[in-house]
Amino acid sequence: MILPILAYGDPILNKRAQEIDEQFPELEKLIGDMFETMYEANGVGLAAPQIGKSIRLFVVDASPFTESDEDEEDGEVDERAVGLEDFRKVFINPAMLEEFGEKWSFREGCLSIPKIREDVSRNEKIKISWYDEEFVRHEEEFSGYAARVIQHEYDHLEGVLFTERISPFRRRLIKGKLNDITRGKVDVDYKMRFPR
Ligand code: ZN
Repeated sequence: MILPILAYGDPILNKRAQEIDEQFPELEKLIGDMFETMYEANGVGLAAPQIGKSIRLFVVDASPFTESDEDEEDGEVDERAVGLEDFRKVFINPAMLEEFGEKWSFREGCLSIPKIREDVSRNEKIKISWYDEEFVRHEEEFSGYAARVIQHEYDHLEGVLFTERISPFRRRLIKGKLNDITRGKVDVDYKMRFPR
């Protein structure tokens, strides 16, 4: 089932989300719906607060990063995308243990903030622990686009949007567009719910 994605300005997006346990009702269905919703909107990640549930859960599929354009020059390997062909994962109750390595900038977007992309600087590597959909605990390091997507989704669980990680100058420039999104004055081809 495709769920509506909450738009910028909804207070749930600014709340720190709560941990869940294995007894969380209909967790399997929720995870399936989140993947379906994410794919429908062509996203690479979706966090539960974005569909109105303030719980520590997000899903990612970073495989689109490995799809290179036809007209791209031969032999150009994007190292940040290596190994992401099957990068489809569920993160439950994740804890960011470390963010390290060099900072790099990437133009991020967000399904809750359609049509806005801004350069966000983050560390290139992370160490994170989490539980998968079977509630098996994992602890792993990620780098490149995998780390980037996880950092962005993890922020959602902390109530932080990427627009809070850009310069005050850039934020002023896009303020009008953000207000339009909150009011529903934006063209999107997926289901959204606007606060006003
Ligand atoms: Zn997002």
